Amino acid sequence: MSNAAASQTDTVIEMAGVSTSFGDHVVHRDISLGVRRAEIFALIGGSGSGKSTLLREMILLQQPNAGTVSVCGVALQGISDADALALRLRCGVMFQHGGLFGSLTVLENIGLPLREHTELDDGLIKELAAWKLQLAGLKPEVGAQYPTELSGGMLKRASLARALALDPELLFLDEPTAGLDPVSAAGVDELVLKLRELFGLTIVMITHDLDLLWQVADRVAVLADGSVAGIGSMKELAAMQLPAVRQFFDGPRG
Ligand code: ADP
Ligand code: MG
Repeated sequence: MSNAAASQTDTVIEMAGVSTSFGDHVVHRDISLGVRRAEIFALIGGSGSGKSTLLREMILLQQPNAGTVSVCGVALQGISDADALALRLRCGVMFQHGGLFGSLTVLENIGLPLREHTELDDGLIKELAAWKLQLAGLKPEVGAQYPTELSGGMLKRASLARALALDPELLFLDEPTAGLDPVSAAGVDELVLKLRELFGLTIVMITHDLDLLWQVADRVAVLADGSVAGIGSMKELAAMQLPAVRQFFDGPRG
């Protein structure tokens, strides 16, 4: 296989010429980037720079106005409903605000994707959900609790456990440590690395957490003014003299 062919198959998410606007408000101008297999890829940038929108475009929750997005070799433009569902099931998503159902226990929330998308019986679903709960670093008894009873850190972990329910190939994390105190945020880096090691997951993560970025991100894309201002390892970015990148390293967090 030529180098070009090898790098093509290694790219699991490919965005080319992506532009996005909401009315007059331009969020992305001609963004192109690729996420490689089993990579931990981070998106950073100021509030409102279009990170979540870019992530939503990778998981079929949002259509760009122009450009192309492909995930696992499947072009998202004009994708059939059946193909879209099949692809979505290969993607685990931990949303910024958790998104668990308040009327269900944590264990029921984690088991819900299995209930909806597999033929597994209740006993097995419970077992698998309990395993994912443990994997996400929560004690078994948390499974019986309701989301409103959990701390912010536990809620994020429960949401992560649900994102893992269907053994995804790709995992999307929108601000996994935002709003957490340092104690709750501690261990999220090890957890992310463990998930990649155990399952060979490709992980796309949005975060402002410099510690987390230094610990886990293979490559980081900096969004600013609708474009990718810089892309590379944290070390490479730190060495860049780009104002938008410097601002991120020097400026206030959050
Ligand atoms: P970030 O995650 O980097 O903070 P977002 O991707 O959430 O940024 O949003 C980028 C910009 O697009 C913001 O100005 C936001 O208000 C706007 N935006 C996002 N989604 C919508 C939407 N559905 N309708 C209108 N404006 C939106
Ligand atoms: Mg966001």
